[in-house]
Order: sequence, then C-alpha cells, then structure tokens
Amino acid sequence: MGSMTGYSAYLDWIEYQRPRMEALVAAWSAINSGSYHLAGLARMCAALQEAFAGLDAFMEVRACDAMPRVNAAGQVETIALGSALHLVKRPDAPVRVFLGGHMDTVFGQNHPFQVPRRLDDGRLIGPGAADLKGGLVVMLTALEALERSPFAPGIGWEVLINPDEEIGSPGSARLLEACARRNHLGLLYEPALENGLLAGERKGSGNFTVVVRGRAAHAGRHFEQGRNAIVALAEYVRALDALNGRRDGVTINPGKVEGGGPVNIVPDLAILRFNVRISSPDDRQWVESQMDDLEQALGRRDGIRVQRHGGFARPPKPISPANAQLFAAVAECGRLLDVPIAWQPTGGCCDGNNLAEAGLPNVDTLGVRGGGIHSDQEFIFLDSLPERAKLSALLLMRLAVGEVIIGNAADTDDTPGHT
Ligand SMILES: [Zn+2]
Repeated sequence: MGSMTGYSAYLDWIEYQRPRMEALVAAWSAINSGSYHLAGLARMCAALQEAFAGLDAFMEVRACDAMPRVNAAGQVETIALGSALHLVKRPDAPVRVFLGGHMDTVFGQNHPFQVPRRLDDGRLIGPGAADLKGGLVVMLTALEALERSPFAPGIGWEVLINPDEEIGSPGSARLLEACARRNHLGLLYEPALENGLLAGERKGSGNFTVVVRGRAAHAGRHFEQGRNAIVALAEYVRALDALNGRRDGVTINPGKVEGGGPVNIVPDLAILRFNVRISSPDDRQWVESQMDDLEQALGRRDGIRVQRHGGFARPPKPISPANAQLFAAVAECGRLLDVPIAWQPTGGCCDGNNLAEAGLPNVDTLGVRGGGIHSDQEFIFLDSLPERAKLSALLLMRLAVGEVIIGNAADTDDTPGHT
C-alpha cells in the first residue's frame, strides 16, 4: 500500500475513542498499584483483563518470581511480587511484535498522591497517569484499531504487562526474556520524554547493598574491644564516591544508610544501599573490580567483614542497526501523521534495556506525552492519547502488510530476536 488511504478509516476510529481513553486513564490512575501493594496490583490486573478481553486473544495471569532483598538486619529475605498479564494473538503469523508496559507505579499504598484530577488546560494529573497507565491505554487502543482492520492477519502480537518494572523487573525478568525470543521487535509504552522526544540510547543501572559487620562492645567499659561498622562503612562510602568522575559515563549514588543502635554501644552493623549507572558493558567490569578492591581492603581489617549484594539488573541499551531501522520506521509513521518524532539519549532505563540485551530491537517510549513522572505532579497531555495510539496503530498496520520490514522479521523459519 503506497498511501495512507487504506489506513485512514482505522486511524479515524481512534479519534472517536478519545472519551473512553480519557475515562480509562482516570479510572486506572485511581487504582493504587505501588510495586509492593499486592492487593492493589491484583485490582489493577483485573481492570486490565476486563479492558483487554475485547481483543479476543489468549489471555492469562502469570505469577512472577519472588524478589530477594537485604533487610535492615543485614539478612537476605524474599518478597512476594504481583502477577503479570500476558496475551498472545496469532503466534504463527510471519511478523511477530511484542508490546510491553507495566502496571505498577512508584506510589505506595500510603503515599499522599492517590487521586487523579483533570485540569482546564487539557492535562490530567494523577499517579501513574503517564508512567505508564496512559501508555497501556495507547497500547490497547492501537491493538483494537489493528484488529478492526483487514490487515490484522499479517501480524501476530504478544503483550506482557508486568507488576514490578519500577523496582527493576526482578520478578518478571524471565517472562520478558521469553517474550524477546518469540518476537521480531518490541514496542514499549513508557512515556515520551518531557519535551515530547522519544528515548534513544539508555544507560544501564545496578542496585547494590553492602553490609558491613564489626564487633559490638560497651562504649565505656570495653571500647577498645569494639570494631565500629559505621566508621568502616563511612570510609567505604567516601572511597566509592571518589570513583565518580574517574570514568566517563559511570556515576555512583550512595542512596541510603542504615545501622547502629544505642549510642553507648560500638555498632556491629551498617548497611549502604546505592545505585550505579553505566554506559557500556566495559563500564560494568570496571566498576565491579573497583568495588571488589575497596571491599577486600576493608575486609582485611581486624574484626570487619564486608558483603556485597545486588547487581546490574539493567544493561546499557546501545542503538543496534535493527534498532535504528525501527526508529526510522516510527519516525516515518510520525511524518505520515504529522507528529514530529525525534530521539534523545537518556540516563534513565527500563525493560527496553533488557529486551535489547536479549536481542529484541525495540522502541520504548511509545506511550503518552506527559511529565513530572515519579512526583506528585505527574501528568499527561490528554490529546496525546489518540495521537500516540494512531502512531502505534499505523506502525502495526504497515508491519502487517510488509510496508515496513525490521531486521529478520518476515523470515518464517528463523529464531526471532536471536541470531
Ligand atoms: Zn515506567
């Protein structure tokens, strides 16, 4: 198909969906689905099941793995996480697309930001409105438009909506990796950047916990017998911070310190939680060996033990040739719709990093335009709901008819996403 005429009826249909799209965002934003609020996540999952049922796909709720976590006593415990929603339609189609998004938000059950409200300027402020509930509405509506069109048989799709993206997807990582293997390309519905641009390269990220143990002693009677874990950890924090600026693209943020107790006791426990951002796989080796050296030096001291937990859950996302092709295809759809699309690198990261690492080219900011994400001023521009749904619907229809070909898509006998 050389023109837009064949597609326009289905794109116009999206425009008429705007009231329903706005109502869905408001309703979903009002459901608290903080990453650790299991009852709220279950309610959100049920609401999604109801909305996605109309697509008439194979649909099931998938359990996620439990997450290991170091508690305030320095011990590793596991935390149960919510379930993911999984849909599959036409898995034998020649072109297979993965569509992903998350149902969790950073706003816990007791956070003061709970109720969405509409403003006169065309925005809706609400928890998760942009990140990523608005994106789920965009994804749903684009799929509905595709399914109404005669082009649908040319394309198969798979959806995974996970409950733990905001905490690094520890429980859904294995489900996501399987999705990466089964599909040719990925579309993720994270919000566009605040200036409307889409994210290009993304940094990688790791969360770590260092537990330092010393020896308790009475601060008056046996002070010299004590080995102060807080003092040892303080030196570790200074040394870790001194790594900032030593290598381009690597930053380390000590984010939380715990430990100690009554001030008349030499503390035997101190815990540091920190985040590391990296730009390349080599950065990872470098920063890990620096941390090893620091910990070994500290651990050689009399009475001090050091243990590190955690790792790089998000590898860096560079732009592969297949990914560049996919970006160009999205930009072309934007031109046809008169929606300017451009890219910008970001230090933020998301499931798109892991999908890329697993071999799936993907665009990860196909959700709404909005801003203030992760704050109590989070908002979406409501007119971006139909705008971005049309962008995705057009891309899906063009993929379905073979007008857009990405990487090895349309090779029927390959292993999708992997070569
Ligand atoms: Zn998000």
